[in-house]
Amino acid sequence: MHLARFARIRLAHLPTPLEPLPRLSEELGLDLWIKRDDCTGLAGGGNKTRKLEFLLGAAFEEDADTLVTQGAVQSNHVRQTAAAAAAHGLACEIILEERTGSKATDYVGNGNVLLDRLFGATLRTVPGGTDMVAELEKTAAEVRARGGKPYVIPGGGSNPTGALGYVDCAREIVVQADDLDLEVHRIVTATGSAGTHAGLVAGLAVMGADIPVLGIGVRAPKEKQEANVFKLAEETAALLGQTGRVTREQVIADCDYVGEGYGLIDQGVIDALTLAARLDGIVLDPVYSGKAMKGLIALARAGRFKGETVVFLHTGGAQGLFGYQTEIEGAL
Ligand SMILES: *Cc1c(COP(=O)(O)O)cnc(C)c1O
Repeated sequence: MHLARFARIRLAHLPTPLEPLPRLSEELGLDLWIKRDDCTGLAGGGNKTRKLEFLLGAAFEEDADTLVTQGAVQSNHVRQTAAAAAAHGLACEIILEERTGSKATDYVGNGNVLLDRLFGATLRTVPGGTDMVAELEKTAAEVRARGGKPYVIPGGGSNPTGALGYVDCAREIVVQADDLDLEVHRIVTATGSAGTHAGLVAGLAVMGADIPVLGIGVRAPKEKQEANVFKLAEETAALLGQTGRVTREQVIADCDYVGEGYGLIDQGVIDALTLAARLDGIVLDPVYSGKAMKGLIALARAGRFKGETVVFLHTGGAQGLFGYQTEIEGAL
């Protein structure tokens, strides 16, 4: 594993801290640590920064002048892609899918959407259920037709190139834990478009660090999520020249905490947001890190992590909180 072989544009503030969560640890009865990837920088930070370093590297290798990507209306990936494009003088074409169906004014105009506009991205909105891969191709064709050079980034930045960012994060966690003499029994992360989970699994497998990763699903059912993560982890290992190093058993997702659906919040998520905020001053988001914490809390209370040292990967997303004022304010 030698990541300097890959083109990379530095965007992130690295390494992000690995810190204890003393009050949540006491509340939940485990030794809980947090990997602060909400502090990666780039429009407020989050997990897409690490992926975008390698994706922009690839875009510049292809002499692209326009980034094209897609996401849900309150996509953090879109916000961070728009910021990366602005910072590097690239145009940015965005397709937003009305995946949650929410028409609340804060959902469609505040939070990430406000920031997308601030960064000067061109936004187009399509109904929920639209074929987003086809929309990406359509937009790329339009850019080409006017003489531009598009670089298409899949939703969430989740392809083997983007996942290299989380191969690097796996290395970073192991180095930090070793420096702290901290034996990590498990890493817990939100898992959505799969690049974060897959990059971690591939990175740990290639390093030979046998730390299990538990992905808490935010959208797809378990079988589909695990299949997506495994496929991408295998492809990522192959990109590293390490074909066959990832095994199916290394990919574990728990998708019992999705609730009503992607981007839809429930009392369990609000309880997780308030517990993290009020015990350790941590801001989570309603779509990803808050759902992952909802799962972690439930599993911890059921005794699942007894005696374990667990690292919770904070993947960011706090900017999306401001798209959910309507849902959250009544529940506090
Ligand atoms: C995109 C995102 C995730 C999920 O990461 P994937 O690589 O898409 O699985 C988790 N948390 C936040 C805040 C995100 O924006």
